[in-house]
Amino acid sequence: MPRSARVIALANQKGGVAKTTTTLNLGVALKDMGARVLAVDLDPQSNLSMSQGIDVEGLEVGMYHVLTGQATVADIVHAREIDVAPAGIELAGAEIALAQMIGRERALERALRPVSELYDYILLDTPPSLGMLTINAMVAADGVIVPVQCEYLSLRGLAQLRTTLTQVRENLNPDVDIVGILPTMYDGRTIHGREAVDMLVENFGDRVYRTRIGKTIRFAEAPVEGKSVIRYDPSGQAARWYRQLAREVAASPIGVALPGASRVAAA
Ligand code: ADP
Ligand code: MG
Repeated sequence: MPRSARVIALANQKGGVAKTTTTLNLGVALKDMGARVLAVDLDPQSNLSMSQGIDVEGLEVGMYHVLTGQATVADIVHAREIDVAPAGIELAGAEIALAQMIGRERALERALRPVSELYDYILLDTPPSLGMLTINAMVAADGVIVPVQCEYLSLRGLAQLRTTLTQVRENLNPDVDIVGILPTMYDGRTIHGREAVDMLVENFGDRVYRTRIGKTIRFAEAPVEGKSVIRYDPSGQAARWYRQLAREVAASPIGVALPGASRVAAA
């Protein structure tokens, strides 16, 4: 029986909270557990595509062409550490192009359908806004993971995200919800860092992952080499955090049971 992929959107309208870093490194860690993984770049800034060494300036077709019906996902996939559906700067025009389309909120959901059986996980990296691209991701997704920088001001933006998600649930995709909150850039040595995580737990309970992604320069270094931290520094802390997150995700309701998962997790 062919299974269809679990689609997970990484969303937070705040920039710099590690959406892109998490999309890539969670994806590579899930792949190492035996999963087939596609990562979709829905940000016109193309950080995900660039972080896998894809030349976005020379890109002829990307997610803009997929969302506007000029290409299929299969046409544009680049096989890197994981499969990547890249985006170039022209994706900035998608908000306007989509606005004129019938079924504009479902363009991504439709586009992913033909590749759904080819993957176990499809991870959607979204831009720092709650516009049409992020709404498309929420409509296509089975669940949303929200990376949150462990700072008071970052926590406040979550109310807006939840409001948008409620609207999507009421109108477009009744099943989608936040499946996990991921504390990122966590510094457990500071009271502020610990208090920020406490506030997350007060608000989201066991939806806060037990994994905390700490701060390290490795995350900035790896993309320069076109690599995930898992390949760039396999024995480092950063790789360990994302492997732990992958095990949490795989074991959660949004996870997929995989033949290879227990073998690799035990390694
Ligand atoms: P977003 O996609 O939410 O805008 P990014 O994943 O691009 O965020 O991360 C923003 C910046 O922070 C990048 O330069 C990235 O390398 C860096 N970064 C991400 N995660 C961490 C971390 N845990 N510690 C330190 N720097 C990080
Ligand atoms: Mg990003």
